[in-house]
Amino acid sequence: MQSQSQQYTKDELLAMDKDAVWHHMTQHGTQTAPMMVRGQGSDVWDVHGNQYLDASSGGVWCVNVGYGRESIAEAVKAQLVSLNYFAGTAATPVAAQFASKLLDLMPGMGKVYFSNSGSEANEKAYKIVRQIAAKKYGGKKHKILYRERDYHGTTITCLSSTGQEERRNQYGPFTPGFIEFPHCCEYRSQFGPVDNYGELAAKAFEDVILREGPDTVGAVVIEPITAGGGVITPPEGYLLAVQAICQKYDILLHVDEVVCGMGRTGAWFGYQHYGIQPDIVTMAKGVASAYAAISCTVVTDEVFDLFADEPLEKESFFRDISTFGGCTAGPAAALENLRIIEQENLVENAAHMGEYLRAQLQGLQSRYPIIGDVRGKGLFLGLELVEDPVTRQPVDETIAMQVVGLCAQHGVLIGRTNRSFRDYNNTLCLSPMLTLTKDEADRIVEALDSAFSALIR
Ligand code: PMP
Repeated sequence: MQSQSQQYTKDELLAMDKDAVWHHMTQHGTQTAPMMVRGQGSDVWDVHGNQYLDASSGGVWCVNVGYGRESIAEAVKAQLVSLNYFAGTAATPVAAQFASKLLDLMPGMGKVYFSNSGSEANEKAYKIVRQIAAKKYGGKKHKILYRERDYHGTTITCLSSTGQEERRNQYGPFTPGFIEFPHCCEYRSQFGPVDNYGELAAKAFEDVILREGPDTVGAVVIEPITAGGGVITPPEGYLLAVQAICQKYDILLHVDEVVCGMGRTGAWFGYQHYGIQPDIVTMAKGVASAYAAISCTVVTDEVFDLFADEPLEKESFFRDISTFGGCTAGPAAALENLRIIEQENLVENAAHMGEYLRAQLQGLQSRYPIIGDVRGKGLFLGLELVEDPVTRQPVDETIAMQVVGLCAQHGVLIGRTNRSFRDYNNTLCLSPMLTLTKDEADRIVEALDSAFSALIR
């Protein structure tokens, strides 16, 4: 079958796009969105025939198993002709199989709730927390704490729980009951150079609980590694301390794995690096490597039982539905995506190649003082750019954009975090496919090398 766009010329397609499409995050007066037409493995082609090594997994950390996977397309096709949809109030074999396999990878978790995007998965989690507050605590324990620099999605309530002023400042008023606590970025320590940064950052979290009143706080939502806010890895001991504080005050721990989930960080889930056991885990991007839209809100049996163990006439089940949470293309793609990750040992590859890539980036850092910090885990790495490695003054935000542009000229697509710190757009982001080879890693590093050397010339 011909692709539907083959009946048009390149110029016609570009004109249609210009006339009709409002692109995400684009300043249309001055920016032109690239038109991407094909992908295979780690490579993607634009409409002009330019080929790129995509070290951004589709721009925003999605295509974990790479482009052009025929077996996923075939699994989705077979499912769609068999049964494309039935509302999530009914069971389907494919959703049952995927949920069951997913839970095998998440010891301690009990049930999977399906929806379509990271934001939606987080909204479900917030509704679960609010309903528990209503059921168990007369509505009192309704507050949800979120961390400065973390992002949890695009809806007004997800923005209400996002610690990035630059994403929020034009969209208030916000949903009440969401409270911010301080970030945990050691490179930007708010406590000065200290040995026990993780402990102090966790104490800052506890201080906010005490200020708000522990009997009013129902949950905390946290990214295991902050993504768009600057690729911020938690300091030593931090997440364990956060978990202990949650247990002390009977607060649910919700981990947002929308970016980190499905092998990206060299473990199946980011939280698994840090020895914690969340009550709620949300995930989206890598769940089906963006071959279909699917997201999951996964809860423990303890959380689920609060909704299940009541008589039907009390109508205290989870009063939520997501129309397209019943689409079967998502779980069909996700099941095959999971099989590929297991069969090709992609989690191990992400861990192993992540170490290799990080070592090469540290090599660049020793040659270019503009690279202030190299951080991240597995194939989720960030480079924070600074004017001066001693003062750590961030570079002007146009610099990161220039590096991204120079790398693209060199045939490599890299990303840039939204704003890595306060007002600075100064962190580059590398998130290649989990299939990354040594040769591809070297090409990414060569592109960065040539970009930095062009910049300082
Ligand atoms: N959580 C995190 C950590 C994210 O990075 C994102 C998206 N970048 C979301 C939630 C929202 O996901 P979506 O865009 O699919 O709604």
